Amino acid sequence: MIRIEHISKEYRRIQALDDINLFFSRGQAVSLIGPNGSGKTTLIKCILGLVLPDHGRIFVHTQPIETSPAYRNQIGYMPQIGRYPDQMKVGQLFKLLKDLRHSDPAKLDYELYEEFNLSNLFESRMHTLSGGTRQKVSAALAFLFNPEILILDEPTAGLDPLSSELLKKKIIVEKEKNKLVLITSHILSDLEDLCTHVVYLQEGKLIFYKDLPTLQQETREQKLSRAIAHFMKKNNPIAPLN
Ligand code: ATP
Repeated sequence: MIRIEHISKEYRRIQALDDINLFFSRGQAVSLIGPNGSGKTTLIKCILGLVLPDHGRIFVHTQPIETSPAYRNQIGYMPQIGRYPDQMKVGQLFKLLKDLRHSDPAKLDYELYEEFNLSNLFESRMHTLSGGTRQKVSAALAFLFNPEILILDEPTAGLDPLSSELLKKKIIVEKEKNKLVLITSHILSDLEDLCTHVVYLQEGKLIFYKDLPTLQQETREQKLSRAIAHFMKKNNPIAPLN
């Protein structure tokens, strides 16, 4: 579904991504894990076409993304920090995006919008919302258009425990509909219940890409955090874990 071939990206002298090769299929929930600055967001932005790699190509449904920009309509993206026009009201934001997409109203997915009670904030301006409430708006927008691919950058950061559980439940439901979900998070306990596969990046390099049972079996650890710590110690005793 998404094929990443030899992607590299350098910012001045920082090698944010270094020859990354990956393939993601339907029904996978892939956790992108790695220390701060390891390249997770840069990789996501390359997939979204928001960052242009220096080398390599990305294919979505076998089409190279640079020649078929409409592929973005198949992706729901929740950014790490959602930036919205300050004066826009929540209701206006949803209406604007629905109008821009010309989407079939029957296909829209309002589940998170309703679970998060966002209709109560219809008249609230974006700049008046708390950080967690902005996250809820970003989450509801990512799922709204029923996309086949969900890309969620630190989705539970800043959410209260109940909202975080609602979002995790929703991610599992969508994955079970055979969608592809890519998630970054530093809260490994959040990923444990969700992910089928783990990509570990460090200093822009792909350290491993494994399905969760294989990682658990190889490390003889059930908990994701312990399995990753075990793998990193075994393969690179001096590497920082996070
Ligand atoms: P975090 O876990 O902190 O969110 P990350 O793994 O998502 O980090 P990236 O945001 O992809 O990491 O950053 C990878 C590297 O690229 C970092 O060293 C970062 O400072 C650098 N970088 C990212 N964006 C830019 C930019 N626009 N200009 C210059 N350097 C950048």
